[in-house]
Amino acid sequence: MLRLAVQAKGRLHEESAALLREIGIKLDESKRQFLSKVPNFPLEMLYMRDDDIPQLVSDGTAGLGIVGLNEVEEKGCPVDIVRKLGFGGCRLSLAIPKAEVPGYEGPSWFEGKRIATSYPKILRKYLESNGIHADIEVITGSVEIAPAAGIADCIFDIVSSGGTLISNGLAEVERVFESEAVLIASPSLSEEGRNVLEELLFRIESATRSREKKYILMNLPQASVEEAVKILPSLRSPTVMPLAAEGWCSLHSVVSESELWDKVRQLKALGAEGILILNVDKIIE
Ligand code: ATP
Ligand code: MG
Repeated sequence: MLRLAVQAKGRLHEESAALLREIGIKLDESKRQFLSKVPNFPLEMLYMRDDDIPQLVSDGTAGLGIVGLNEVEEKGCPVDIVRKLGFGGCRLSLAIPKAEVPGYEGPSWFEGKRIATSYPKILRKYLESNGIHADIEVITGSVEIAPAAGIADCIFDIVSSGGTLISNGLAEVERVFESEAVLIASPSLSEEGRNVLEELLFRIESATRSREKKYILMNLPQASVEEAVKILPSLRSPTVMPLAAEGWCSLHSVVSESELWDKVRQLKALGAEGILILNVDKIIE
């Protein structure tokens, strides 16, 4: 049975579970155990700390895993990165006390400094590639308090909004590593496991494709159809259906949310009326 390791609790847990539910995988969270079988898919869920997921997937204990790319990079164990998942976005950055910012001219500032971090491997790689020698103080939590506590001069830590840095009097000066949640696979995945992975990927693709799409339908004067089709390329081409009222038709299409309001404005200019915009659940191409 193929195992999928996800974070048991923490920042990635909810969104990992939501993605799996979105693609039709039933998870019984009410009596969640460390290991539980999915009733409607050939998958066994393994709930772990995120730190352990790369190793478990690498050695094949779990065939698949959902974890931050930052953990995969830090642990350095060989796994296949199958796909980015579009959530858990963050970055690993170097941050220094705000008072030091006026004198900051670039990464050479870190020469000889003490840097607190939970990501020593990624930091070491960055320092080496910039020819900088610094002391790395490994701390497993609350890295942002290290400078104020006198443990280090500066930090290398996860940043998303930057709010934590600001409230600790720190300023982000170098963005080193961009991360988001990824689906990883064991390099030794069996043939059967690969088939299950393929089905999972197919479902994830159609769910993510639909995420920022809207279904749009409207009544349109027949004479404007040609122009409207140019505005709405759709999956293949828009659906046009006649209305009982002569000279009018109903036009249906799918548009990206980012372009939605611009298209609506153009369609209204062509005489579109009664425009309905609906969410799209899945798109299978
Ligand atoms: P665990 O108990 O599983 O070891 P943790 O405390 O190490 O949990 P979380 O804080 O739950 O980890 O973060 C999990 C992952 O979420 C991070 O490794 C990172 O990929 C991602 N993430 C996204 N935004 C943030 C953020 N603002 N702070 C921390 N992690 C973030
Ligand atoms: Mg962790």
